[in-house]
Amino acid sequence: MLNIGSHLSVSKGYENMGKTALDMGANTFQFFTRNPRGGQAKDLDLKDLGKLKVLMKENNFAPILAHAPYTMNMASFKDNIWEFAKMALADDLKRLELIPCNLYNIHPGNHTGKGVEYGINRIVTILNEVITGNETTTILLETMAGKGTEIGTTFEELKMIIENVKYNELMGVTLDTCHVHSAGYDIVNNLDGVLNEFDEIIGLDRLKAIHLNDNMTEFRSKKDRHAGVGEGNIGLEAIVNIINHQKLRDIPFFLETPYDIEGHKREIEVLKKLYK
Ligand code: FE
Ligand code: FE
Ligand code: ZN
Repeated sequence: MLNIGSHLSVSKGYENMGKTALDMGANTFQFFTRNPRGGQAKDLDLKDLGKLKVLMKENNFAPILAHAPYTMNMASFKDNIWEFAKMALADDLKRLELIPCNLYNIHPGNHTGKGVEYGINRIVTILNEVITGNETTTILLETMAGKGTEIGTTFEELKMIIENVKYNELMGVTLDTCHVHSAGYDIVNNLDGVLNEFDEIIGLDRLKAIHLNDNMTEFRSKKDRHAGVGEGNIGLEAIVNIINHQKLRDIPFFLETPYDIEGHKREIEVLKKLYK
């Protein structure tokens, strides 16, 4: 069975996201842990979460994916930004223990001119100060497109972070198809080669989620502009190969394509038909 969902808004509550996913023919979804641009997180409604837990169990949901806010920059040299990232990570990990969710996706960060090595050091410091080893959540670093000074644009950078985290059994990766294509990994013509490279450098056992997006920009553009499935430079054929690939087909897929719920529902319908 294809495990697929899209990014949903948490504003109407957790059970509501579960119901919306079901209406869309999905069996998972992604959501922001807090306002993606701001900082403050709302108090959790435990009754609402309990209802989502039941709904997920009754309908055989795949793991759902929490996404950290964009304002979180663990690589920043500015202390106030770095401290906020540390606080938000600690707070999110605590809250996630209450949410029936075991995957948490973070953008590694931007070094804003200080260099990749400096940025990776800052990221690793936060992860080691915050992660206690007792979390039930797997923390996923997202593969990035390479715009600006983004860290996590190569598999080597992600590996460098992961291998320096003390409790790295809790660390994994989200592969964003649009981002890796922009970063220069040729998933269109050489998917096997890219997956072999991922396996050799990071290890495919760390790959826990896939952001399934087409790419509005060119291969190796280093830009981050998602297109609808089959409407960009990755194309439907390559996307169908990705969802059916022996090494990927059981991983949950999350659409972050520029559509609303109706549009995502149509994409899910199409992809389910093309899943063998
Ligand atoms: Fe993301
Ligand atoms: Fe993504
Ligand atoms: Zn993106």
